Amino acid sequence: MNKIFLVILLFLLSNTVSGQLKVAITIDDVPNIKKFEKNNFQTKLLNQLDTLKIPIAIFINEGMLYKTQFVSKNFDLLNQWVKRDYSTLGNHTFAHSRYSDVGYENFTADIEKGEVITRELSNLYNKQLKYFRFPYNDLGNDSLQKNLIETFLDEKEYIITPFTIESSDWVFNYLYEYYLKCNKKQEAQRIANSYINITLEYFHYFDSYLLSNMADILIKYIYAMIIQ
Ligand SMILES: [Zn+2]
Repeated sequence: MNKIFLVILLFLLSNTVSGQLKVAITIDDVPNIKKFEKNNFQTKLLNQLDTLKIPIAIFINEGMLYKTQFVSKNFDLLNQWVKRDYSTLGNHTFAHSRYSDVGYENFTADIEKGEVITRELSNLYNKQLKYFRFPYNDLGNDSLQKNLIETFLDEKEYIITPFTIESSDWVFNYLYEYYLKCNKKQEAQRIANSYINITLEYFHYFDSYLLSNMADILIKYIYAMIIQ
């Protein structure tokens, strides 16, 4: 067992050192209905992803379907996301509620309400719905609330999928769209560049954090073996 642990650790460490890190791209709050009508019921994001052909996981808020008057169009948009062979499905609750605010009963109801249509679509496209992401990564007020919800999700065979690197894209997007609206394209571009740069910095930071942590664990493990 100890040897297996060491081998895994060394494997992870060697992968990290050699730059073989992997990242999972995840997109929350799907379907993206906000600009859908304005863009003539086209989604630039999905079109862009089609050209990239990279695997992504989407975390769905079914409540989004009813946020505009074009409900059937919004259904069609969700259908488009789900049917893509590169998309993996996740539940992100119906209403994007915050667990520590609404409490266990309301939150579990929100989880179950948020999986109805996605399950139908997953069956239609022969996919699974097994991932769950907490809105705001909020796992509750205390360990009791956290344990309760983990048990609930476990019984429903969901895998909890927190986001790790997140660079506040919504803040940058707010400014980006503001400058575009004011026809200040240079300013908008400056915001876009800042977003890309800070995101890369986040990646760099967490890569080095991971590396130093794993090296630390490895040293402690070896030390523990020596003094045994
Ligand atoms: Zn979200």
